[in-house]
Amino acid sequence: MKTNEATHGSDENRVSAAEKARARKVYGMLEREYPDARPALNFGSPFELLVATILSAQCTDARVNMVTPGLFRKYTSPASFVSADPEELERDVKSTGFYRQKAKALISSSRSLVENFGGEVPHTMEELLTLDGVGRKTANVLLGNAFGIPGIAVDTHVSRLAQRLGFSEENAPEKIEHDLSLLFPRDRWTELCHLLMAHGRRICVARIPKCELCAVSGLCPSAFKFTALRKSKQKKGM
Ligand code: SF4
Repeated sequence: MKTNEATHGSDENRVSAAEKARARKVYGMLEREYPDARPALNFGSPFELLVATILSAQCTDARVNMVTPGLFRKYTSPASFVSADPEELERDVKSTGFYRQKAKALISSSRSLVENFGGEVPHTMEELLTLDGVGRKTANVLLGNAFGIPGIAVDTHVSRLAQRLGFSEENAPEKIEHDLSLLFPRDRWTELCHLLMAHGRRICVARIPKCELCAVSGLCPSAFKFTALRKSKQKKGM
């Protein structure tokens, strides 16, 4: 689907009823397939989700979930991250990778929360984007999962599946977010991401997707291509 800079309302008219119907069928099938789809990061408050999401960049959710329990016992609030010793915090988050940038982002975003938002995580896209280490993906994760405000968080799984399923021809996360927002009702956006992430982890994996096991293969324009590719690799013993 192509996008332009027009408003959401006029763009929406450019999406055919057939495209929307197919998207909703895919959604329904994935919902049946993954009834327990939920955020993969463990958290107990919006601030903990912010910290976990910053740590999850270029890192598995499982690894982040191993690190955060100890981290949240040691640093219990934005103020405690602000007063953290940077080198000690780097060591605390080292196993999540990119630890220098992540420690810096944790301290800087915490300082911004303390100085500008009374120590609370704000709940608008505009305010969230003022925090260091927070881009649209993280902001949408927070809006959807911590505040119940619909948001489409385009991570690597959502991006890949949106393209394979023919929901978007774009590469830029913001454009993919826009395309998905035109196809799915607003109150499904957050859940849509959980479903696409679950499917991306288990079946529509990055390398060669397991189309033969896929519940939505009958509605997927990429099924034929990947099934042929998998067969050809199997034939060659790869
Ligand atoms: S048919 Fe294959 S490419 Fe399409 S969604 Fe399923 S696993 Fe992914």
